[in-house]
Amino acid sequence: MPTALSYPQKALHKLGLVRDIDLALHLPLRYEDETRISRLCEAGEGQVVQIEATVTDVQVTLRPRRQLLVTVDDGSDTCVLRFFSFYPSQQKALAVGSSLRLRGEVKGGLMGWTMMHPSFQSAGGDLPSALTPVYPTVAGLPQSYLRRAVLSGLARADLSDTLPSPAGPVSLWSLRQALSFLHQPAPDVALAALEDRSHPAWQRLKAEELLAQQLSQWQARRGRDAMQAPALSGQSAVAGEPGLAQRLLSVLPFALTAAQTRVCAEIAQDLARPVPMHRLLQGDVGSGKTVVAALAAALCIDSGWQCALMAPTEILAEQHFAKLVGWLEPLGIRTAWLTGSQKTKERRAMLALIASGEAALVVGTHAVIQEKVQFKNLALAIIDEQHRFGVAQRLALRNKMNVPVEPSPGGGGDGEGASVNHTQDGVGAKPQPHLLMMTATPIPRTLAMSYYADLEVSTLDELPPGRTPIVTKLVHDQRRDQVIERIRGQIAEGRQVYWVCPLIEESETLDLANATQTHADLSAALHASNAPVMVGLLHSRMPVAEKKAVMALFKEGLMQVLVSTTVIEVGVDVPNASLMVVEHAERFGLSQLHQLRGRVGRGAAASACVLLYSTGDAPRLSQTARERLRAMAESSDGFEIARRDLEIRGPGEFLGARQSGAPLLRFADLATDTPLLEWARALAPKMLDDYPELAQRHIERWLGGKAEYLKA
Ligand code: ADP
Ligand code: MG
Repeated sequence: MPTALSYPQKALHKLGLVRDIDLALHLPLRYEDETRISRLCEAGEGQVVQIEATVTDVQVTLRPRRQLLVTVDDGSDTCVLRFFSFYPSQQKALAVGSSLRLRGEVKGGLMGWTMMHPSFQSAGGDLPSALTPVYPTVAGLPQSYLRRAVLSGLARADLSDTLPSPAGPVSLWSLRQALSFLHQPAPDVALAALEDRSHPAWQRLKAEELLAQQLSQWQARRGRDAMQAPALSGQSAVAGEPGLAQRLLSVLPFALTAAQTRVCAEIAQDLARPVPMHRLLQGDVGSGKTVVAALAAALCIDSGWQCALMAPTEILAEQHFAKLVGWLEPLGIRTAWLTGSQKTKERRAMLALIASGEAALVVGTHAVIQEKVQFKNLALAIIDEQHRFGVAQRLALRNKMNVPVEPSPGGGGDGEGASVNHTQDGVGAKPQPHLLMMTATPIPRTLAMSYYADLEVSTLDELPPGRTPIVTKLVHDQRRDQVIERIRGQIAEGRQVYWVCPLIEESETLDLANATQTHADLSAALHASNAPVMVGLLHSRMPVAEKKAVMALFKEGLMQVLVSTTVIEVGVDVPNASLMVVEHAERFGLSQLHQLRGRVGRGAAASACVLLYSTGDAPRLSQTARERLRAMAESSDGFEIARRDLEIRGPGEFLGARQSGAPLLRFADLATDTPLLEWARALAPKMLDDYPELAQRHIERWLGGKAEYLKA
């Protein structure tokens, strides 16, 4: 029977400090110098000092509140210690005449030095010979306990080297050396080198961490390469006839851009292999990802298999559905539609179409991955706006494949002989569908190299012709009237306008209140002019049917202005919209602003985006806020903006730790440690080939059970 955990032990577990190695890798945030005793007469205001002094006076006062006041003298000056909470035992230790070693922050005042709640012990005793580490901790886990736990973890942990030699840039320090040093640095160390993590001990740790991350990515990639998937070469059932993709191309009202053609070829090549595709299609808003998805679907369907397309919201899913049905149904392809808000009867009919294979294409929201949905033979899963789905959802979609990889005669892919054997190592395991993920939030190169090393990336780096560039303006909230004037102008020209209301962190109710108010204000202001103007309101709390009705009015051009909370669903396509106003733009992430801005400029009309900002009570925006908004105004390139966003917010926020499931780097910094990243990237595949056991030990040491996440 396992022994019950003590309170601090539970706290250790909460920090993820379970194994000895976890403790050894729990590194200090900063250090305190307790190696020497200072004199009060040399102390400076606000300085943290360690002194040895004798108690000369003790008082307990009751006003203004109960406190213990202890006066001490170190021979150079005196200092008053204040304690607001104290136990009898402490009071005893602080009696007149006691000689103490004290540590705390000294503050000056008219009455001389004071220290609030200093730590103390009796004077004398050995001084530590190393700097005292201060660790990241949680409530209920005192530094002293944590320190002891870390040091004993460090002593017990297996720190034998896992790097094959020669190990390149990090051959100087061993892991053991580096860790011993970082937990107990000598007092004469250059603190600056520790703090900016340029010290060789830090270099070693960062290199190790990056290597672990690269190894697990490469391992996931190889695991996938060992799996099977149906080879989708898109051969039409009838020899000599043009394939479905060909026929789709010939009915499209436009020609593909060069980028679309290239990307389609990349995808087709992957699909034709009997190994699951794991590809990300990234392309700026409006770059035309949907048609690429449709062509991939056509290849899949033409090979006799089913394709599923999942989008994060109902409006977006419906838009895809409408578009795909419009393109594919005339070519004889049946498409099913799945959503959470569907009536039971309709859903049942759809489920039947999907299970029988009659529907070759399935479009929908999260409803697509529900348990009840049984595909006959799913071979390609497409996920739009993939960053809005979690790891679990991506895995669920992939697990929808439930037939063995058999050639499907006559393009009919029958699910006969479902003898699927599950094994651990991928070989002969359950076949996987191909996965195509799409995003308009491009991944900066350093992230692509690290977190997504296990992903093939296709990029649409060109917009379809005929787009007019969007002019972005920063306007102070006080000049709202001018913006409304501008809206009138657009409406007079027959154009449409989006007005996006701010995201108020963690309060949907406030978001809503704000949007409702803006809607009322705008309606009033615009009605004042004579022509009838319809101003609509769209927010996430509205019933789906109502949302759809509003969207439909806007799409058909009957509604001129659409006021919306942040969810103007990513991907909404209304080419007649030519002006986008974003209120409180300073509260949005750059990539999000860029996405929003991409809702306009989809037609031939000159389009603009007005970023309304407010400084609140402050006289002006903060430096970063200004820089960010300026970046938006200056650049219309999603990649450039994503790069700046990464710079400003760091990868943690960029990825959204929860969504990506990727363990974030604790020590290495992608922006500054690129050379180490390059090194790890080059070493990882070689290490898997030549030193597989070392590689396993290294992954285990650094990622423990977390490596699983990376496979999604
Ligand atoms: P996104 O990449 O943001 O999802 P969409 O797929 O919605 O972009 O495409 C944006 C618009 O551009 C759509 O109206 C689409 O039909 C159109 N489009 C896509 N490809 C082309 C092209 N090669 N030429 C002209 N218009 C295109
Ligand atoms: Mg899209």
